Amino acid sequence: VITLEGIRKSYGSFVALNEVSLSVDAGETVCVIGPSGSGKSTLLRCCNLLEIPDAGAVRVGGVEYFPLAASARERSTSLRGLRTRTAMVFQSFELFPHLSALDNVALAPVQVKGSDRAAAGRAARSLLERVGLRDFTEARPSTLSGGQAQRVSIARALAMEPEVLLFDEPTSALDPEMVGEVLEIMRELATSGATMLVVTHEMRFAREVATRVVVMDRGEIVETGTPDEIFERPRHERTQRFLQALS
Ligand code: ATP
Ligand code: MG
Repeated sequence: VITLEGIRKSYGSFVALNEVSLSVDAGETVCVIGPSGSGKSTLLRCCNLLEIPDAGAVRVGGVEYFPLAASARERSTSLRGLRTRTAMVFQSFELFPHLSALDNVALAPVQVKGSDRAAAGRAARSLLERVGLRDFTEARPSTLSGGQAQRVSIARALAMEPEVLLFDEPTSALDPEMVGEVLEIMRELATSGATMLVVTHEMRFAREVATRVVVMDRGEIVETGTPDEIFERPRHERTQRFLQALS
């Protein structure tokens, strides 16, 4: 579904991603773990081109993006193509404060996809039900708990019917008692066959839900494997050091 090939990204002389290649197949839940500053968010942001890589290729569904090769016009067409095929859930929710939960969910389908307003509203209502927020459709984000706000933002991502869902530490900003309700929704999505790329510090989630775990360090993927391989028999010394530092 999504393929990154030889992605490089630098900020000035600092190399944030160094020749990173990764692909996620349909129905997979790939968890990305690794120390702070290792390039996890940068990698995720390259998937939907919130960051434009300096080199490499990004493919989502049938759309390819080559930052260097294509003409400016081809780049902008493929950029829009990729953005509508991916949806991102951020650590800090990023909901529109002046809109109700329902309108937050229905906005992009209407504005980006040109969906019919009434149909988008019905779809949004049913997605909010799916994340357990049937009684909060008219609530403004500021009146919601962190866990509720993050569930709205997951519903908003689902509303675009993306081919891949991107999560950047979706539970890191939550009070501990709200982490579980968000992880539970994500677990259900994974079970229902969604394709997900998840940056997370929740090792238990990665262990139980991931089909594959990717370990990053200093802008590189140091190791990829099943949860068993990564957590029980890590081969790379940098993986071992990272996991030891957590326990
Ligand atoms: P964390 O676990 O703390 O979220 P991360 O693995 O997500 O870390 P990134 O956010 O991808 O790490 O950042 C990788 C490196 O790139 C960091 O050293 C960061 O300081 C640097 N970086 C990221 N974005 C920028 C930017 N816009 N300008 C300059 N440096 C940046
Ligand atoms: Mg990050």
